Amino acid sequence: MALTGLEIYKQLPKTNCKDCGFPTCLAFAMKMAAGQVPLEKCPHVTDEAKAALESASRPPIQLVTIGTEDAEIKIGNETQLYRHEEKFYRPAAVAVKISDTLDQGAVAQQAEAAGQLKFERVGTEIRVNLVAVVNESGDAAKFEQAATLAAEKSGLACVLMADTAANLAKAAGALSGKRPLLYISDPAEAEAAAAVAKDNDCPLAVKAEGVEALAELTPKVTAAGVEELVLDPGTRTLKDTLEALTLIRRASLKGCRELGYPMIAFTTAEDPTLQAVEASTFIAKYAGVVVSEGAEKWQMLPVLTTRQDIYIDPQKPVAVEPRLNAIGEVDENSPLLVTTNFSLSYYSVEGEVEASRVPAYILSVDTEGTSVLTAWASDKFNPETITQAMKKSGIEEKVSHRKLVIPGFVAVLSAGVEDESGWSVQIGPKEASGIPSYLKNQWQAS
Ligand code: SF4
Repeated sequence: MALTGLEIYKQLPKTNCKDCGFPTCLAFAMKMAAGQVPLEKCPHVTDEAKAALESASRPPIQLVTIGTEDAEIKIGNETQLYRHEEKFYRPAAVAVKISDTLDQGAVAQQAEAAGQLKFERVGTEIRVNLVAVVNESGDAAKFEQAATLAAEKSGLACVLMADTAANLAKAAGALSGKRPLLYISDPAEAEAAAAVAKDNDCPLAVKAEGVEALAELTPKVTAAGVEELVLDPGTRTLKDTLEALTLIRRASLKGCRELGYPMIAFTTAEDPTLQAVEASTFIAKYAGVVVSEGAEKWQMLPVLTTRQDIYIDPQKPVAVEPRLNAIGEVDENSPLLVTTNFSLSYYSVEGEVEASRVPAYILSVDTEGTSVLTAWASDKFNPETITQAMKKSGIEEKVSHRKLVIPGFVAVLSAGVEDESGWSVQIGPKEASGIPSYLKNQWQAS
């Protein structure tokens, strides 16, 4: 938890000597609390005060980096229990499980498929981030081979999961410089695995049977020199895992250093639909990494959609640039559809226009990222704003007709828009899903 100026001030010498460049110790403390000056600027802080300030100013949940370069993922460093209190910062990494008992062709095929598991939603790419290679064979050579292949074919960062530190060392060595997350399932091997993680400069995930056992284990691992930890409370049912993740998040935000790390969770249901439910639940409730048993596109889309929605800043509407967009090979007879610049509204309309295969113009009016009905209710989507947006867009020069289509939910605006713009208003469907049929069967330029 960030320290307040007064908490920092209590640790300073309080001599107001000005050597830091500030007139008083309190002024220095206030600047430091705002993150505008480092503690080192005061040359008179005692070692005890330094230790207290440094440990207290550490984030409640450690930042952990997995992978490198384009495949790099950062998790942790969260500060809130409830998203609406501020926001969640670092989206959970979604991993697809690959067993090293598979033959090489199957490992390569699954890894390639994982690397391709991506979708575009409201103008943003959402994708699977990791492949979790599991040493189910117990064989170090097979594990190493599968890890190498999975990393190469997926292009993603890896989680390497084994029961023994020796097998982890083998696979970690093969991915040297790629910074995989090493996962040790046997708590008795955790300290040996910490030595492997330290030697290979990798983060380490440790498992223990329950939250208390985890809190006892982490100091032993950090004493071995690994700071970037990920926690597995060992639970394997939806209910138990949800409880454990919530307990750890609460404890870490209350200052429990032993549990102040991101968490890893696993789907375990046999039913593929329930796997997607489990993964989505763990994303919503605090997991930093979610390892999914299934990797079908239909399973991943709702999981990644949940993640995107949970990690969007709840205080900021998701908006697209307000402007005129041409969809397809438009010409002077192409229809003009008007909507708002709320991302979900805009992309719903765009997707349906594309699906209709009728080239069309879409004008997104600046409503500060609010949806059609919200913008209408708050008077941001009205005859004046629509007409101004039309004029600014230059649509008059692009089409020969003088017709625009407004969403069916705001049909009440039609008379006002006609008066203000001089264009003829056509009432489109209420839902975007009705657009293809509308454009094919009802729209006429003349
Ligand atoms: Fe206070 Fe240190 Fe600044 Fe001197 S240098 S005024 S002791 S904060």
